[in-house]
Amino acid sequence: MIRMPVCFVGHGSPMNAIEENEFTEGWKAVSKKIPTPKAILMISAHWYTRGSFTTDAKTPKMIYDMYGFPSELYQVQYPCPGSPELAKKLLALFKGKVSIDNHWGLDHGAWSVLVHMFPKHDIPVVQLSIDGTLGMNDHYEIGRQLQSMRDEGILIIGSGNVVHNLRQVDWNNIGRGSLWADRFDLFVKNAILHHETDLVIHYEKSPGGAYAVPTPDHYAPLLYVLGASTPDDPIQVFNEKRTMGSLSMTSYLIG
Ligand code: ZN
Repeated sequence: MIRMPVCFVGHGSPMNAIEENEFTEGWKAVSKKIPTPKAILMISAHWYTRGSFTTDAKTPKMIYDMYGFPSELYQVQYPCPGSPELAKKLLALFKGKVSIDNHWGLDHGAWSVLVHMFPKHDIPVVQLSIDGTLGMNDHYEIGRQLQSMRDEGILIIGSGNVVHNLRQVDWNNIGRGSLWADRFDLFVKNAILHHETDLVIHYEKSPGGAYAVPTPDHYAPLLYVLGASTPDDPIQVFNEKRTMGSLSMTSYLIG
């Protein structure tokens, strides 16, 4: 079986699920470069937990974990199968450190992207939660442990945003980033392209780190993806853009 790439997707606004725009076009285009996966392992910023969890339901439930959006968004369905088999693999790989929690299913960090990337919803999807008690280096190490799954046809997708500061959102700056957002996004891109993973892990030491990553949830999925990659994987940057001042949509296909 061929080795699957890994993908970090900047998901941005939940409205992307029901819109057609430059970002959703980018997601569609990149999905065409990915061999059909056996299953998708999704690490979304929106399943941020104390401890580490996954789901083994045959049909993952839809989680509408966003507030104040048009009712149309709460009608979105993504009726893909789950994969009890992949969940079992995760339990075996992380012996005792990951447990099952079927209260969760697919949150908007997952489905808003999947409806565009894999619209036929015929590929099984499993989410792995982000343990908020861990540091960036731990997330990176978990990613490294997931690396071998790429040889089993599993597509690992991290869904978050490199720059995600909702307090600094500027509605007069749609389609553009603030100076700090632009700087930090470029800093992370250069670090990724030059395999300077330590710089990505210790982002707080970089200029703009505190502004771009006020909370770790949207940044952490990137570390799983980098952990699961190897230095000889080719790197494609897509949707490289900031919007609303303090959101970066910049995404990476690696491998
Ligand atoms: Zn989000």
